[in-house]
Amino acid sequence: MIITIDGPAGAGKSTAARLLAERLGFEFLDTGAMYRAVAWACVDRGIDLKDVDAVAETAAGISIQFEQDRIICNGQDVTTDIRSAEASHAASIVAAVPAVRLEMVRLQRESAAGHRYVTEGRDQGSEVFPDSECKFFLTADPQERAERRLLELQNRGQSESIEEVLTQIIDRDERDRSREIGPLVKADDAIEVDTSGKTIEHVVDFLEQKSRERLSLLRL
Ligand code: C5P
Repeated sequence: MIITIDGPAGAGKSTAARLLAERLGFEFLDTGAMYRAVAWACVDRGIDLKDVDAVAETAAGISIQFEQDRIICNGQDVTTDIRSAEASHAASIVAAVPAVRLEMVRLQRESAAGHRYVTEGRDQGSEVFPDSECKFFLTADPQERAERRLLELQNRGQSESIEEVLTQIIDRDERDRSREIGPLVKADDAIEVDTSGKTIEHVVDFLEQKSRERLSLLRL
């Protein structure tokens, strides 16, 4: 049983997906972290991200493990490294490579098989789990999304200006929307939730209510 949450950068997907999974007793899959890990592995090997074959080869041989809150890529803890502004940019470059997407989608379907998952990303409801009974698409004002992302970066000790972060977010959304395979798009049957000006609790309350309705979990 799969619940999908898609949407642009900074719309609050990760936090909402994690909390929703906790409330429902589901597992949580952060698919953005997988593309970030591929980008990290490429940079670690000194690969030029424009070298599509080398990027594809890196993705094909990658090992990505989620261990509680840690992300282990090819045996190394990359939890912090993959969250920088550079890593976000690099992730959206490798995510446009078709062979990378094929491999990540394969891994996502493989890990979700037979499990109860809340998955979060850009293409989860539209491409990866089109049969999911419960899909959400989270949005928010670009300015608010940039402010949230800036706060996240500051909490990790990284400094950027709000203008820089806003430009990066708009740029990344554009790349995510315009790629040919697995673009950022709302699935026709996804419920759109504008999180602008809403607290995370308010958003998760709504997601939980809708999920329980859709999945007939009210009696659990
Ligand atoms: O969600 P997050 O910001 O961690 O995602 C990083 C990048 O990974 C996105 O900008 C996007 O290019 C890519 N991504 C993707 N498909 C997903 C999840 C993330 O292409 N399902």
